[in-house]
Amino acid sequence: VTDYWCELAWLGGDDVAAGAVVTVDGDHITAVEVDIASPPAGATRLVGVTLPGIANAHSHAFQRALRATTHSGPDSFWTWRTQMYDLAARLEPDTYRALARATFAEMVCAGITTVGEFHYLHHAPDGTPYADPNVMASALTDAAADAGVRLTLLDTCYLRGGVDTPVAGAQQRFADADADAWVARVDALADGPMRRVGAAIHSVRAVDPASAARVATWAHARGAPLHAHVSEQPAENAASVAAYGRTPTAVLADAGALDGCFTAVHAIHLDDDDVARLGGAGSTCCICPTTERDLADGVAPAARLRAAGAALALGSDSHAVIDPLEEARAVELDERLLSGVRGHHHAADLLRAATAAGQRALGWSDGGVLQPGAPADLVTIALDTVRLAGTPRAHLLDGVVFAASGCDVRHVVVAGRVVVRDGRHVTIDVPRALGDAIAAVRP
Ligand SMILES: [Zn+2]
Repeated sequence: VTDYWCELAWLGGDDVAAGAVVTVDGDHITAVEVDIASPPAGATRLVGVTLPGIANAHSHAFQRALRATTHSGPDSFWTWRTQMYDLAARLEPDTYRALARATFAEMVCAGITTVGEFHYLHHAPDGTPYADPNVMASALTDAAADAGVRLTLLDTCYLRGGVDTPVAGAQQRFADADADAWVARVDALADGPMRRVGAAIHSVRAVDPASAARVATWAHARGAPLHAHVSEQPAENAASVAAYGRTPTAVLADAGALDGCFTAVHAIHLDDDDVARLGGAGSTCCICPTTERDLADGVAPAARLRAAGAALALGSDSHAVIDPLEEARAVELDERLLSGVRGHHHAADLLRAATAAGQRALGWSDGGVLQPGAPADLVTIALDTVRLAGTPRAHLLDGVVFAASGCDVRHVVVAGRVVVRDGRHVTIDVPRALGDAIAAVRP
């Protein structure tokens, strides 16, 4: 049993508590007491403001290797995708494991305690299954364990290049033969203390409606989270309407995908009916603002989605940057730019998206809160930094969300284990691991 004395702690409301003692037994919180002025004997001091564990609800770990190489130039989402496919074609289990390990370690340093990996690099580059058909999933699982982060493996069904187009090139390694083959492969993946297995429908472009229904049925039977890319680009909507006479959200709704365990990733180019469907189902929408701005995708109607009943979560997606606080404030700030109005989301709303809502969307439904029974995942943000020094106590959450960065994360505890101490990962030299892993996959 370990006591953590938090100078300040966010317990889920609109303010922070002072002198919170969080008692941890093994990997769970067993008690939270507040107004304890000085640390009890033997307690570990967490100086700053301590948050519950942050969830990165949408990640493609391998895309970290593209950072800085694709941002300039007059290209589009679709030319970016060509560069991404070139990288995807070069990865093998060993290089994938090393790259994911370093990327996940970067995430923990930024306060992320659970990552949802939207995993479609299943097969060998020519599309044939590896001898162990889940060797790439094992690489991700090992990587997350090394980095000390919880993993939700969102194994992704991907069957075709387009409505009437077979997979080609790098897409071959994403594809199972059909939805039954996807089920057979994913059925072999088990949950563990630090891993949940979930499902993903890559998109309505890459999965036909009947196969989407098959994946949704599997997820519901297993009680697993189900994610899908939804309406990231206008061309995706146009193709869906041309093929099915319906938007991607409507296709997924008709396939039985939408419910409280469903997460629509991006959810940008939605019509009013789509917003009502996602909200009415109590689904989550995972907004990935730093990637969406990098790819010129657009701005998700996050305030309308929340008003309709949807939850919000956050993801760093392509890892153009990995900074969950930047993602959180962008949800509000991007809507301000579009609407000319401020105040769509309060800091506490955005922190809930980053923590409890994101954890729930990844199947850790008791996570993202500091209360008895919750996983012992703690993220302490230093207040004596250039970004936060001088922040008045009454505006602390605003300071954290609107001014802090991942660089201000000083300590991270995951499942009761200290993973980041004084701003450094305790077992991995993260810059070096990133440099080596990226160099190994560069053409
Ligand atoms: Zn994605």
